[in-house]
Amino acid sequence: MVRVRFAPSPTGYLHVGGARTALYNWLFAKKNKGTFILRIEDTDRTRYVPGSVEDIEESLKWLGLNWDEGPYYQSERIKLYREHAELLVSKGFAYRCFCSEERLTKLREEQSRSGLKPGYDRLCRGLTKEDVDSKVRQGIPYTIRLKVFLEREIVFEDYLRGTIKVRGSELEDIVLLKSDGFPTYHLANVVDDYLMGVTHVMRADEWIPSTPYHVFMYEAFGWQLPIFAHLPVILAPDGKGKLSKRHGATSVLEFRKMGVLPEALVNFLALLGWSPGGDREIISLEEMVELFDLKKVGKRGSVFDFNKLFWMNSYYLRNKSVSELANLALPFFEEKGINAKSLGQEKLEKIISLYQQRIKTLSELPELSMYFFTDDIPYDEEALKNFLAKPETFKILEDFVKSLEGITQFTKENIEVTLRTFAEERGVHPKELIHPIRILLTGRTVGPGLFEVMEVLGKDSCIRKLVVGLGRVKKDGTQD
Ligand code: GLU
Repeated sequence: MVRVRFAPSPTGYLHVGGARTALYNWLFAKKNKGTFILRIEDTDRTRYVPGSVEDIEESLKWLGLNWDEGPYYQSERIKLYREHAELLVSKGFAYRCFCSEERLTKLREEQSRSGLKPGYDRLCRGLTKEDVDSKVRQGIPYTIRLKVFLEREIVFEDYLRGTIKVRGSELEDIVLLKSDGFPTYHLANVVDDYLMGVTHVMRADEWIPSTPYHVFMYEAFGWQLPIFAHLPVILAPDGKGKLSKRHGATSVLEFRKMGVLPEALVNFLALLGWSPGGDREIISLEEMVELFDLKKVGKRGSVFDFNKLFWMNSYYLRNKSVSELANLALPFFEEKGINAKSLGQEKLEKIISLYQQRIKTLSELPELSMYFFTDDIPYDEEALKNFLAKPETFKILEDFVKSLEGITQFTKENIEVTLRTFAEERGVHPKELIHPIRILLTGRTVGPGLFEVMEVLGKDSCIRKLVVGLGRVKKDGTQD
């Protein structure tokens, strides 16, 4: 029975790299009808960032990666780790270290001065049982360190990378239990993976250097190893180095805030390291579950291409029903102080459908369609100069408003016929009307078809905006 876990540390928001790890674990669990466990590795209190547990859990839920078990919080399981550290001491695979912080700092300084690799010099390994007992009796604080085999090689199989070997002498006697009784990542992680029956450990490849320690601990406890699969790193758009904040958004909820849909982000993340075969790019979560194959996860890092994500998002946005899109867009309007519902659902959907084919994110909608909700819109200065700087334009537009008044059924077809007939009668090109009207109604020179926009705005609104607009714009093309 497959049991996998996602085991983030609450040291900040959920990074898209972490989300990809969670996704692969989730897919693997679903594919194999197994269990996906969420475990919060929160034993390092110095690195704890308030709010991050909530951020992680909310991100996973938003992405649709619900966990079957947990969340387990390691901070609630401290006793277990202590017991296991003691067990390793009693088995001779770990020892108490009484070295003070001061000594360790001095040691590191000396090592760096003499160009040596920093690390513990294993001093307390040599203590006799009597020494240890006496120091414990005196109440000297101690840590528990792993007593790695110096003469042996640690060998393990990585599902994606094959055999990995490390000489024991290259390993450190890492701390398992700190002097305050809290476990380090290594101890808590291994104990929990075992106690939770984790069968496959899938995590970022930055954890490869930790794995030999874990393998050693499994052996020391006499436990069967899980299968390790270290996932390739996510690279920055330029392919140089890891994706980080300086390349743009990296947190899951930041993408949500930008108006990326969860299905688009999931689709995009899934393909960062895995491919269903062929050149398929759009794939639903259900299909992914069916097609996911850990063997097909690559070893090399994949580049996080923001443009591709936005392209995917626009695909998912285009394929939503307008009513669903309208509901999804509501919070984005709200954030801009626009009560999108004020115009009624039907109108809102018409507005949204004007933009559905054009947007890459939901957050573009309020700004693009703001003119539906207020007459107080800024006009593009450059556009005014180009299209509304001649007195004759004003005269023509004022007359055109009268023609609009005469339309009984304010449909895009009727508006178009009216405009073209009017232009012909006046001997002007329709464009000489279309551009300035678009600016006065929407504030800009580009957008959806003008006649459609006008139909959705409605007759009264169009006339009002044109009259108000003509009053606001001065005849030299500047605005009040
Ligand atoms: N707590 C570790 C992290 O934050 C988990 C690593 C692992 O999955 O073993 O990434």
